[in-house]
Amino acid sequence: MLNANASQTWYEFLQYIRKRCSKAAFENWLAPIQVMESAKDAICLKVPNIFVKAYLLDNYKEDLCSFLPVDALGEPLIEFVIPKQIPKQPDVIKKTVTSSPSASDKVEYELKLNPFYKFETFIEGPSNQFVKSAAMGIANRPGRSYNPLFIHGGVGLGKTHLLHAIGHYAKENHKKLKVQCITTEGFINDLVDSLRNKSVDQLKRFYRSLDVLLVDDIQFLQNRLNFEEEFCNTFESLINQNKQIVITSDKPPGQLKLSERIVGRMEWGLVAHVGIPDLETRVAILQHKSEQKGLKISSNIAFFIAENIFSNVRQLEGAINRLTAHCRLLSQELTEDLVEQVLSELFQRIPKQRVSVENILKAVATVFQVRVSDLKGTSRTKEIAIARQVAMFLAKEMMSESLMMIGASFSKTHSTILHACKTIENKIKKDEALKRKIALVRRHVEP
Ligand code: ADP
Ligand code: MG
Repeated sequence: MLNANASQTWYEFLQYIRKRCSKAAFENWLAPIQVMESAKDAICLKVPNIFVKAYLLDNYKEDLCSFLPVDALGEPLIEFVIPKQIPKQPDVIKKTVTSSPSASDKVEYELKLNPFYKFETFIEGPSNQFVKSAAMGIANRPGRSYNPLFIHGGVGLGKTHLLHAIGHYAKENHKKLKVQCITTEGFINDLVDSLRNKSVDQLKRFYRSLDVLLVDDIQFLQNRLNFEEEFCNTFESLINQNKQIVITSDKPPGQLKLSERIVGRMEWGLVAHVGIPDLETRVAILQHKSEQKGLKISSNIAFFIAENIFSNVRQLEGAINRLTAHCRLLSQELTEDLVEQVLSELFQRIPKQRVSVENILKAVATVFQVRVSDLKGTSRTKEIAIARQVAMFLAKEMMSESLMMIGASFSKTHSTILHACKTIENKIKKDEALKRKIALVRRHVEP
């Protein structure tokens, strides 16, 4: 690739990325990269160390692919030049060593945070308001409010996002503090490496000198006895010095298979739960993510997607990524049909709901003493018609399916379902017996 061309391409890439990442991330990671002469098709980049290469590929591979030539596997064609490094040391210590006290204190040690995981990009709703404000409180006054903060919740609900947001905020607002963010696996790997290199003391000293330690996915410490003890020692040493610890986990402390000592310690501070976002929050997340991607979606479409993907924010993001790619490639306008077609797989991958139309029909048939086949049929006799409307009403109340999908299960349009719901809502205001019957059906349906 011609050098002038390569420099121009790289310049354009940087201009594009500059608007999408924080100033600090840009300056620490991207600005030091240099374009070199290359005889091949590939662009040749000189990076200060292996971390910059990993950072670039981990965070910007897709974007690189849109700017640079790609190989047959769709990987960006980049030739990396990395200056010779000091012999291998544990990951965390490496940075401490490379920046000797005389070096500028710009990067004193390596802190890897996802540049997109900030408080500003974390959408708030009833399911995560509490945990977000706890996290912001901690980031504002590390070591001086709740310690430790223990964040738990299901997969893809924003635990890592909040953890990194604390890191960003603490770093930006308390420049002198030593912040480190690790995954539990990273902690174990560092420990294993340091045992091999006989540098355990150095590693321990490093961890114990931190002001803020952010630990992701503590559940991976289960069944790792030796590491558990070392973690516990580090933990106690920091807590005793009022240094801030934040831990994330997929379960609350009491459900982790860890020693009582460490569970007790983790329950000392504040235990906060991240829940599944409600419909409105999911819509807000979708709108925010699509805006970031430059994809226009109407609120109807956002509601449609949010109604169908409800258990995991990462899947919402996946939906936006797919739609963005699709729209870019085919420059088609987003309609509900297109969305359904592009996302059908994601929609189907939603865990099976516990309540199904079939369950509801059976329960209604039992309580109203009619046959399921009558409910599915077209008979308009009064008893059957009411029972059928009750089934539709309960399907809307008890299932998180969209009206369209519920309609399809009854072979009715969504307006028929809405009409049935209104009729029943009005009736139960006056008809106590009907209300009781419906409550009975609910109990039959509920697992
Ligand atoms: P977890 O660690 O709980 O498995 P992550 O923090 O990795 O989940 O979140 C998964 C993805 O969803 C991330 O890309 C994150 O930015 C996004 N995400 C989760 N919750 C929110 C939210 N409330 N607002 C914006 N993005 C969110
Ligand atoms: Mg996570």
